[in-house]
Amino acid sequence: MEQVVVTPASLDEAVAALSARPEAVPVAGGTDLMAAVNSGHLRPAGLVGLGRINELRGWQYQDGHALLGAGLTHARMGRPDFAALIPALAAAARTAGPPQIRNAGTLGGNIVTAAPTGDSLPVLAALEATVVLAGPDGASREVPVSHLLTGLDPLRTGELVAFVRVPLLHAPQTFLKATGRSGPARAIASVAVVLDPARRAVRCAVGAVAPVPLRPLEAENWVASCIDWDGKRRIAPEACEAFGDYVAVACVPAPEPEESAPPAGVVQLRRTVSVLARRALGRALA
Ligand SMILES: Cc1cc2nc3c(=O)[nH]c(=O)nc-3n(C[C@H](O)[C@H](O)[C@H](O)COP(=O)(O)OP(=O)(O)OC[C@H]3O[C@@H](n4cnc5c(N)ncnc54)[C@H](O)[C@@H]3O)c2cc1C
Repeated sequence: MEQVVVTPASLDEAVAALSARPEAVPVAGGTDLMAAVNSGHLRPAGLVGLGRINELRGWQYQDGHALLGAGLTHARMGRPDFAALIPALAAAARTAGPPQIRNAGTLGGNIVTAAPTGDSLPVLAALEATVVLAGPDGASREVPVSHLLTGLDPLRTGELVAFVRVPLLHAPQTFLKATGRSGPARAIASVAVVLDPARRAVRCAVGAVAPVPLRPLEAENWVASCIDWDGKRRIAPEACEAFGDYVAVACVPAPEPEESAPPAGVVQLRRTVSVLARRALGRALA
């Protein structure tokens, strides 16, 4: 079968190209998609390349939010100007694979692939980001990233991720990742912590330990009540440590029956998550 490759120059053209050939697959950096093609898992009947669409490669400000183009590469998000805007997303982008992957791989691709180890995903979950989806005939809709990832509101045929809307909180936020070896590697566990001083809230998400990022909501609420929001945003070291354990137990459940000691793998993963969460909070409050 003939494989058609089109490279539209605008979002509208890309959506039209997908509508014209619903069996075609969008490709941005190709770091995930070409791996699937090369391993024989995917044989796309056509490709719609998104790499020429300039409107997807930058960001703009809108009502206290940043509207990030889905085509932003990890390398671009890792730069200092972006880090000043959304520090945790920049930190995640800097750890997303080796340089050649970060130069090509995009935010939109990371979201649509939705791998448990996707580094941007816990950050977007903690930020409660939304995605703007562009569909056929000019249709556009906005859904929480978490709904897309959990399948509650999946991408529909012919839709593209156009933008990611992220609130600008103007407060410290951190992302930490544990891997099995030194150098660029996929996460065993990752933790994003975001402070929202206007709401006196701490938001946390844990990546890689489950199919989608997990939010330990009770631990978030508890630790927010331990912070001196009116003073220097200090927290007692014991509270910081307890937060790590709280997050770990919430996000790494032990298999039934609960009475017996958790298996060694669970204990080890909980220890890793606990350390990451404690450090991430400590750095955000430092
Ligand atoms: C060696 C290696 C190491 C890696 N290490 C990491 C790592 O440490 N951390 C990490 O998070 N990731 C890692 N990755 C995964 C990958 O680089 C990221 O997921 C990347 O962000 C994917 O973006 P992309 O533009 O290359 O996506 P593509 O491969 O182009 O596309 C991926 C999927 O998304 C779809 N898609 C892409 N853009 C859109 C859009 N705008 N709208 C709708 N659908 C879209 C495609 O159809 C495809 O299904 C690694 C990959 C490799 C090969």
